[in-house]
Amino acid sequence: MPDQSIIQERRRRLLDRRRREALLLLRGAFSTDHPIMAHIVPIRRCNLSCAYCNEYDDFSKPVPLATMLHRIELLGKLKTGVITISGGEPLLHPDLDEIIRGIRRTGALAGLITNGYLLTPDRVRRLNAAGLDYLQISIDNVQPDDVSKKSLKVLDKKLQILAEYATFHVNINSVLGGGIRNPEDALVVGRRAMELGFTSTVGIIHDGDGQLRPLAERERRVFLEMKKFEKRHFSRINYFQRKIANGKPSNWRCRAGSRYLYVCEDGLVHYCSQQRGYPAKPLEQYTIEDIRREYITQKSCAPFCTISCVHQISYFDFFRGKQTRFVEPTPQERLISIKVAGA
Ligand code: SF4
Ligand code: SF4
Repeated sequence: MPDQSIIQERRRRLLDRRRREALLLLRGAFSTDHPIMAHIVPIRRCNLSCAYCNEYDDFSKPVPLATMLHRIELLGKLKTGVITISGGEPLLHPDLDEIIRGIRRTGALAGLITNGYLLTPDRVRRLNAAGLDYLQISIDNVQPDDVSKKSLKVLDKKLQILAEYATFHVNINSVLGGGIRNPEDALVVGRRAMELGFTSTVGIIHDGDGQLRPLAERERRVFLEMKKFEKRHFSRINYFQRKIANGKPSNWRCRAGSRYLYVCEDGLVHYCSQQRGYPAKPLEQYTIEDIRREYITQKSCAPFCTISCVHQISYFDFFRGKQTRFVEPTPQERLISIKVAGA
């Protein structure tokens, strides 16, 4: 049980976050010329090696703090609303707190995606002090196996630490697909998250192009079960996920490169973690012209895309901004090249 000072600070931070989120919504609705969200990678290294993941290595050094702060400043100049630190495993970066402070100085909301292994009470207090707004942990199964060690069994202690000390918002994401053996584990994880006072979401693991791997019948059943929980605020499941869980294409406009940016450890802007290689332009040279061009660019990978944050951001512009340009990812050259058609 958290003590009174944590409970009060949580309330204060919640009100402050709501105020800044309302401003972000207003700004996002008023103008299409800025990113709503950027993901930024301070370190590619990870302390785990999940079988389905193509976003980590086991050797990269942390990006120097000065470089990270410069990139964050550039994202601030583009008026980015939320800057989320991802990886690799961002808790391996020695200057993570300063990176979070840098994000907050730009006026953006600060998020962190972590596997949670390195969380301790002191680490959580430091994240509070740095001004972190959101933290997300993905938990893949109940017992660790050779696909993933992001297990409830291992991480439950870390969740309890968060429940006791964190003053930022915590979301626990459970997953379906991608070789996860027991889809029913997603329900156990979601229930535990709710019990501890966190929010819970479910993601569908994509293949190396960000595309849907068809869900098996058992996975679909669990998905629909979690859909029922949504009514009780058990989890937020996106509308698009219902379609792709049923193997149907989703009709939406991907605004990657415009309303959403993925900035890799080399400081290049890519569409998303699964379509690295385009536009692959240095953030330093990224301008409002790039944002406007990508806003009207239709991506051929969109119909079966499972990257939920980019879907969510697209809702800002659901009824506007017809896409008149077209790009077609080239699967065999995945991660390094995307063929542009009809530019
Ligand atoms: S913990 Fe995250 S970054 Fe690390 S290997 Fe697993 S999915 Fe990839
Ligand atoms: S549709 Fe957009 S977010 Fe999805 S894989 Fe393609 S570029 Fe990435």
